[in-house]
Amino acid sequence: MDRIKIENLEVFAHHGVYEEEQKNGQNFYVNAELFTQVRAAGLQDSLALSTNYGEVCHFIHQFMKEHTWQLIESVAERLAEALLLTFERVEAVKLEIRKPSAPIGLPFESVSVSIERGWHTAFVALGSNLGEREKYIQDALTGIREHKLIQMEAVSDIICTKPYGGVEQDDFLNGVVMLKTLLSPDELLGFLQELEQKAERKREIHWGPRTLDLDIIFYDNLVLCTKDLLIPHPDMHNRIFVLEPICQIAPWYRHPLLHKTMQELLNGLR
Ligand code: ADP
Ligand code: MG
Repeated sequence: MDRIKIENLEVFAHHGVYEEEQKNGQNFYVNAELFTQVRAAGLQDSLALSTNYGEVCHFIHQFMKEHTWQLIESVAERLAEALLLTFERVEAVKLEIRKPSAPIGLPFESVSVSIERGWHTAFVALGSNLGEREKYIQDALTGIREHKLIQMEAVSDIICTKPYGGVEQDDFLNGVVMLKTLLSPDELLGFLQELEQKAERKREIHWGPRTLDLDIIFYDNLVLCTKDLLIPHPDMHNRIFVLEPICQIAPWYRHPLLHKTMQELLNGLR
């Protein structure tokens, strides 16, 4: 992807673990790379189609002056988030925060922290077959929309489906949303589980009735297998109640392991 690069922006600010540092301040230097598309701006010679690096520099300067953190890790993390939330054409940022006057008591040139953060695309499946199903689904959608670090990109219809997995129970309401998020996969799962808990979800029978079930289906093209999280969702390709709604919003999306589009997977099941 294209990049706009800012090198060694000097900011006098008050970050540090020691009281002296917070009181007296010192110089910090910022290297920033903004990942964005500049082709349209370049072809049309139009700043309105790009990101104004002058504005970005002033934003970084002011942001680092008006806050005080102990760690340059925090400066980097908060600044990356603020940049991604403020400059809408920027899809990812690489940041390096240098602190050449850190009180180390030995000769050295500089210390720094570097991070890379950006927007990720995720698909989440929603399901409910217990109690006020409609309300649980709508509350979950509202909860997702209200999260500062999530942008809802598309919402499928909420469809009524027969239960799956062999447990005798009521029909389900199901849907899928596509979103952009700054949350990591773990953080997204944690947030979805909070929403499940707000819906008074109790974890009882596996595949049994539930007030609200929120599953991560995809997260970019990530393949992740940990104790708590499997991405892509390992059973999504067998579930018409996931594939039908996902095909409404992203039939072209290709499964990173099965290499078939959502439409192809659905056609195969039917
Ligand atoms: P299921 O959705 O399979 O009916 P649960 O909703 O009760 O079952 O989830 C059980 C566990 O599944 C969760 O505690 C979570 O850690 C784990 N899990 C693994 N992969 C995923 C995923 N992609 N999305 C949501 N939960 C997942
Ligand atoms: Mg689940």
